[in-house]
Amino acid sequence: MECDKVGDMILTSTFAIAFTGAGISTASGIPDFRGPNGLWKKYSPELATIDYFNKDPKGFWEFYSLRMRGLFTALPNKAHYALAELEKLGLIKAIITQNIDGLHQLAGSKNVIELHGTMRKCYCVRCLKTYDSQQILKRIDEGELPPKCECGGVIRPDVVLFGEPVYNISEAIQIARESDLVLSIGSSLTVYPANLIPLTVKENGGKLIILNAEETPLDSIADIVVRERVEEFLPCVVNYIKNQTLHRSS
Ligand SMILES: [Zn+2]
Repeated sequence: MECDKVGDMILTSTFAIAFTGAGISTASGIPDFRGPNGLWKKYSPELATIDYFNKDPKGFWEFYSLRMRGLFTALPNKAHYALAELEKLGLIKAIITQNIDGLHQLAGSKNVIELHGTMRKCYCVRCLKTYDSQQILKRIDEGELPPKCECGGVIRPDVVLFGEPVYNISEAIQIARESDLVLSIGSSLTVYPANLIPLTVKENGGKLIILNAEETPLDSIADIVVRERVEEFLPCVVNYIKNQTLHRSS
């Protein structure tokens, strides 16, 4: 069984980390926006660029508030909970995520590094004051478009828009350098610089496990590639690990 093999790899690792992408949240009802039912089949990705935000913040928010509302209805799934459990067991040291949905934290994960920011927060582009996104959505409902800070600056979501550099990349790479095992979960591993995380672990002699529905460019250098549904596979890994540790302690 592949989940036993992955479980053994996690148990024998000393610094395992997870790297997650859109595929971990599809079972929560959030479509992969690059996939066949994704957002970018219906809307132009142009709408989520920093240039468009700067040019037309009202138009940007008309679109982006729709996207945010969709994300707010989603709840963590079994894959998120399994990773939170592995962290509690001391077996996963950090999660580096490309997702902005905040579902890892909702599932109970503590050490989460968000490369693309979070849609749960907004901030003023002028004074950098932060706002809760649900409050901003409420103000948009009441007709405030674009939402503005008390200082007069436009408020934006605390996410990385197309055309902007990712957040926390040096911290993420530092963690990848320390890691001897990375589980890449639900990421197509095509977007630079996100694919640097698994590559860095491999370059430093660590192992790479890829769980993804589709082929990825890094499959050929992975130690194991798993095509199963992440929300079924990860709980299976957790069960295996719990059984193993039970046998060891008895
Ligand atoms: Zn302000």
